[in-house]
Amino acid sequence: MYVRVGIIGAGIGGLTLAQALCIQNIEVVVFDRDPFPAKTGGYRLHLSEEALKSIRKGLQARIEQALRMSGTGPESFKQFSILDHHGKTKLRFRQTDEEDLLMIGRVPLRKILAVDLENIIRWGTQFTHYEEIDSGVLLHFSNVQSEKVDILVGADGVHSAVARKLLGSETAKSAGVTGIAGKTILTNRFRSTLYKDLFKGPGFAVGPRGIGMFLTVHDPNHLAVENEFVKSLDIIEQPYIIWSVAALNESFRTDPKVLNSDQLEEESCKLLKNWDQGFHDLIKCSVKEGTASFQFWFPNNLSSWEHNKITLIGDAVHPMPPTSGLGASTAIIDAVNLAEKLTQNIDSAAALQAYQEEMLKYAPKAVAEARPPLFWQRRFTNELMRKFAMSIFLPAINNVLKIKEQLRNN
Ligand SMILES: Cc1cc2nc3c(=O)[nH]c(=O)nc-3n(C[C@H](O)[C@H](O)[C@H](O)COP(=O)(O)OP(=O)(O)OC[C@H]3O[C@@H](n4cnc5c(N)ncnc54)[C@H](O)[C@@H]3O)c2cc1C
Repeated sequence: MYVRVGIIGAGIGGLTLAQALCIQNIEVVVFDRDPFPAKTGGYRLHLSEEALKSIRKGLQARIEQALRMSGTGPESFKQFSILDHHGKTKLRFRQTDEEDLLMIGRVPLRKILAVDLENIIRWGTQFTHYEEIDSGVLLHFSNVQSEKVDILVGADGVHSAVARKLLGSETAKSAGVTGIAGKTILTNRFRSTLYKDLFKGPGFAVGPRGIGMFLTVHDPNHLAVENEFVKSLDIIEQPYIIWSVAALNESFRTDPKVLNSDQLEEESCKLLKNWDQGFHDLIKCSVKEGTASFQFWFPNNLSSWEHNKITLIGDAVHPMPPTSGLGASTAIIDAVNLAEKLTQNIDSAAALQAYQEEMLKYAPKAVAEARPPLFWQRRFTNELMRKFAMSIFLPAINNVLKIKEQLRNN
């Protein structure tokens, strides 16, 4: 079967799909409004074991190697800590099984996924809408000529224009929470002053009004520097700390969308009134112009659709809050799943159907994993509940986990 696949969105899902189709010699063209791959928000991402298996299954081996060399593995996630707003750890979840994972910056991830796709990706192209014609799908853009493809894949993220037309409604609905995230270089000062548990893995601090702060250290081991291929991509990052303040939308005095990087840092410090100075120092030392706000989204109605030429992957169809750390992973799994179905099925309509059926089994589970932290965040707006949890409930669970660990070690 000869098909030309058009992908809207050279984000994590779109690039993975393009890589996986190229390996199978399926013709593909990708359109993204960004001018170049490094023009993307700079958060570090966690890729799950399943996502890494998909990468191994569907992409060139040197891409997986470059990803591994540019990020950190299970050694950087020995524990997940819950802290109070004074910086005291109340609960430590130690990782007992050696689950595979990769922590990687978004820019290195995107640059590696874009390798060898120079002639396939059209950067700086703003998709507006599509039109169905007998021989395929016509893609329209605001700044370049229209293009015809046989199959269209919407990988254009939250508020996908492809999804809106295909399904007739928005695929994202607000989760009622907004985050402000920034990046702070891990200087010698922060190496000695940062809350110690954060060097064993990510942590989440909870304070008054249910305001939370996610913190994670990213300190790649620079094996990458030795590798010529990785060196050529110019993706070596300095070690840094990612912080992200998350609060219910009604906690913000000004709509974060209208604030610039400096104002967002000020707003974060206001939200963290009465928190330990260490949290404030991290925010105040953030990389200039690197702080941004983002809304948390859930899928509006994640259910099947019918179309024999158009499909959706990633956040375009199942946006989810970062609380599960599975959004990018699920986009990668979708991409490899779809490429596999297009390779195995002679009939492209059957391939799209098979992809969708499988995706609708695993994606709702990933979305569900993002819900409990948000549930607890709402509960912790109640001061009594938060104080009880911080002073009695979490330390009690911590003691039980410690005893279990000692028994296991004996
Ligand atoms: C703070 C934060 C932390 C996160 N942490 C994690 C994590 O640890 N692990 C994890 O798995 N996930 C995480 N996520 C979620 C993850 O980033 C997303 O789920 C993932 O990027 C989705 O990939 P995607 O390819 O579907 O969309 P995206 O990566 O968003 O890509 C969409 C692309 O489409 C392009 N586009 C959109 N509209 C158009 C248009 N009209 N024309 C042309 N191009 C267009 C955009 O420019 C973009 O490049 C996090 C998200 C946030 C906000």
